[in-house]
Amino acid sequence: MRQKLAAGNWKMNGTGAVLAELEALIQAQGAAKSELLICPPATLLSRAAEIASGSHLAIGGQDCHAASSGAHTGDLSAHMLKEAGATAVILGHSERRADHGEGSEGVAAKASAAWGAGLTAVICLGETLEEREAGETLHVIGTQLATSLPDGATGANTVIAYEPVWAIGTGKVPSLEQIAEVHDFLRAELATRFGADMAAATRLLYGGSVKPSNAAEIFATSNVDGALVGGASLKAADFAPIIQALDAS
Ligand code: PEP
Repeated sequence: MRQKLAAGNWKMNGTGAVLAELEALIQAQGAAKSELLICPPATLLSRAAEIASGSHLAIGGQDCHAASSGAHTGDLSAHMLKEAGATAVILGHSERRADHGEGSEGVAAKASAAWGAGLTAVICLGETLEEREAGETLHVIGTQLATSLPDGATGANTVIAYEPVWAIGTGKVPSLEQIAEVHDFLRAELATRFGADMAAATRLLYGGSVKPSNAAEIFATSNVDGALVGGASLKAADFAPIIQALDAS
């Protein structure tokens, strides 16, 4: 019942020339069974949405402000993203939590704003290496889930991305058992708070050094409904085989 989702986070990478990768991806994966989402830098949102218009590929933002407008220099509201052509927004990415001191309560406020604008919130959670080594992973993930996710979350308005901080951009990947443990835990926590139907409908993505070479085994792991991909989403030639592995899973 959950449609698989391959989401790409381009982070602060790419000027106009990179949009050729979007065109190549649409050419290569236009008929994918999985849902596809690319989150380019905000400067490219409108152009990316134009290119993706009429295709299977959706476009998303990488962050939004919790307010709908006001004196917030440099920020973008959820409505602005929506108007630019976004259908989703990544929230609480560990790079924003680290670089901008974002806390889970702030992420929850942004998620409410995203829903208010009609955007799907892709909410990121993840433990640091120190937390994992201290045996605190499930406690950290449980706390982040509880505090980053407002009441009102549904399988339609929310996607959860488990992204161990130590796996992002490092080439290090947790064992499949470690991924399964967290994803099983997330599904159970959602069921406890929101009910079995919501838990069964909500996509749980894994993120952190997903590559064409490891995608198939990750997608075969318990309760993994897709991936949030950074580096390997920048080139259609890398992202396409990941999508194919997801389609085949
Ligand atoms: C990310 O930033 O969300 C991410 C998963 O990055 P990478 O795939 O490069 O590890």
